[in-house]
Amino acid sequence: MMMNADPQELAKFGDLAHKWWDPESEFRPLHEINPLRLDWIDQLSQIRGKRVVDVGCGGGILAESMARRGAEVLGIDLSERPLKVAQLHAMEAGIANIDYRSVAVEALAAEQPAHYEVVTCMEMLEHVPDPASVVQACTQLVQPGGWVFFSTINRNPKSYLFAILGAEYVLKMLPKGTHEYARFIQPAELSRWCRNAGLELVQFKGMEYNPLTRRYWLSGNTSVNYLLASRKPAA
Ligand code: SAH
Repeated sequence: MMMNADPQELAKFGDLAHKWWDPESEFRPLHEINPLRLDWIDQLSQIRGKRVVDVGCGGGILAESMARRGAEVLGIDLSERPLKVAQLHAMEAGIANIDYRSVAVEALAAEQPAHYEVVTCMEMLEHVPDPASVVQACTQLVQPGGWVFFSTINRNPKSYLFAILGAEYVLKMLPKGTHEYARFIQPAELSRWCRNAGLELVQFKGMEYNPLTRRYWLSGNTSVNYLLASRKPAA
């Protein structure tokens, strides 16, 4: 079977895996945005007690925080070292309601269709050869009435300036080569993939950053980083 994954992308995250839980490392932005996205996801979908799958979970920053809020979480990724780090971190923290698996989202969707009440897929679509296929699989994984959340980066001159030149070259928040401009995704493209998969769009949010105050906040401005909440219509 052809894997919808780019080995170079998986290796990039594998090489840095040991630093995943260091809040001052290359993963600092993920640590800093996590409370914002967690609250937003939780407010819309009330994750306590729900079955949640986190697609492209990496070292488990979001997955573990959702488990701490009482969700039954499965984290999946195709990069082995981040998964090991995630597993170890949850074990050391004594969190029982979380599991991690190395499996492609398309394969899990075939195995467990409509099994989850909430699907999260954050900062992952822009690293994948065929993001529409991931959207399709996330839709297959969620039960009717359930929620699917995405976040990614818009594609326009401003996002090139902020997300690549600014974040990788000027502020050095991210390693050079973290993101590839051509893989960025416009909201209209993500919307189309969601609608084609059968999801209803509920809410777009922009995620903005002020490098001087080092503050992040959610807004209506989706020109660089943004999130989408969507639902599978109830049966
Ligand atoms: N979602 C996490 C991690 C984002 S980093 C968070 O927001 O905190 C991007 C992650 O996507 C990495 O862990 C990388 O290994 C994973 N990834 C990249 N391509 C993938 C693919 N085809 N399938 C599953 N995971 C993938």
